[in-house]
Amino acid sequence: MRIRALVALVGLLLVAYAVDAVAASQVKSVRLWRAPDNTRLVFDLSGPVEHSLFTLQSPDRLVIDINGATLGTPLNLPIANTPITSVRSAQRTPTDLRVVIDLKKAVTPKSFSLAPNQQYGNRLVVDLFDNAADATPPPPEPTVATTPAVPVTPVQPAIKLAPVPNGKRDIIVAIDAGHGGEDPGASGSRGQHEKDITLQIARELQRQINGEKGFRAELTRTGDYFIPLRQRTEIARKKGADLFVSIHADAAPSSAAVGASVFALSERGATSETARWLADSENRSDLIGGAGAVSLDDKDKMLAGVLLDLSMTASLSSSLNVGQKVLSNIGRVTPLHKARVEQAGFMVLKSPDIPSILVETGFISNSGEAAKLQSSSHQQALARSITSGVRQFFQQNPPPGTYIAWLRDSGKLAQGPTEHVVRPGETLPMLAVRYNQSVATLRSANNLTTDELKIGQTLEIPATVLAAQQ
Ligand SMILES: [Zn+2]
Repeated sequence: MRIRALVALVGLLLVAYAVDAVAASQVKSVRLWRAPDNTRLVFDLSGPVEHSLFTLQSPDRLVIDINGATLGTPLNLPIANTPITSVRSAQRTPTDLRVVIDLKKAVTPKSFSLAPNQQYGNRLVVDLFDNAADATPPPPEPTVATTPAVPVTPVQPAIKLAPVPNGKRDIIVAIDAGHGGEDPGASGSRGQHEKDITLQIARELQRQINGEKGFRAELTRTGDYFIPLRQRTEIARKKGADLFVSIHADAAPSSAAVGASVFALSERGATSETARWLADSENRSDLIGGAGAVSLDDKDKMLAGVLLDLSMTASLSSSLNVGQKVLSNIGRVTPLHKARVEQAGFMVLKSPDIPSILVETGFISNSGEAAKLQSSSHQQALARSITSGVRQFFQQNPPPGTYIAWLRDSGKLAQGPTEHVVRPGETLPMLAVRYNQSVATLRSANNLTTDELKIGQTLEIPATVLAAQQ
């Protein structure tokens, strides 16, 4: 009883202090994202709070005490497919909020506060990591300050060296949908979010690449949740990726800016002021979703760390090569913002061992382009052009042990790809015969919805597989 009295007294003192300092804070909204191995809750706050959390069993619960706050929003959260069965709240004191999360099974919670940045105010982030034996929590994100400047191991991921039947493994393309979860990326004037557009294009790109014999596509992100930048390249590495393609949509202060760009990592920093600006705003997403140890003030240091820590000449020349091929294909379906591959210090391109490109598919800050980026026909066209560039690159540079390398080495891959400008009287079936392709292949390589050709139209003719395709 005396302890309780003491606690009450301390509590009163805290309340008195809190009333002065932080009692004004309100939980303005609560957002929830489900990732494959964890559930993230983000409490948006009107000011700083103190918090603590603890778990209870039988039944499993997680209790989050948010001191110096009141609840200003209903707790209607999308808890389907999460370990959460319900979320309740009560005001323990007029300024101390308790949120109880009822659980189907125990989780491992982790929490941290984030200070305001350009996009958000104060936040409290609570991650509920699944306890399943096969779901291990991802390691904490290393900050630049703690990243040792070790030479990067020249990794040929073990998965690539694993026995592959007949030495004809698929070429693996990791597709990274930019942003996600509480990091929406750029926003359009009609509320379009970059994170949604990038995921839609990434899924379409995966579908198309998986339709190419000898290729397999893997997504780093499969839903609306945040993945730190370094973890995205880690996922690609674990999947044994031969190529990393990050999909984004641009924003610029001027709403007139339009067009697509392709970036590879720079060795010495950004090649233009625009690129540098972009690099900053892309890297900043780790500050939005990360564990709070990196502040905006560190951004120059972080970029410097990125730029200094490069040992990737071979990957970079491959990145520039594949980037140029992707760029020239994209230029056939949408205006280009820059006619050549730009280079900037995007952290997501930092894999020293995997050729990596970042495709800015267009400017979401331009209302016309934002509408296009949301349309499935344009998304398909963009994905088709990226697929073509990737295919062309790997037909010329197939990694050893892949089906495409086998095709080339056994003389089954003819020269190509090439382009054909349609002349009067030519039909798709006629061209299919001339180039030893099926009509369906020509149709799909050019994203044609009808077989009608226009005089002067440029068609992409994929590299020919000379062997009978049975
Ligand atoms: Zn982006």
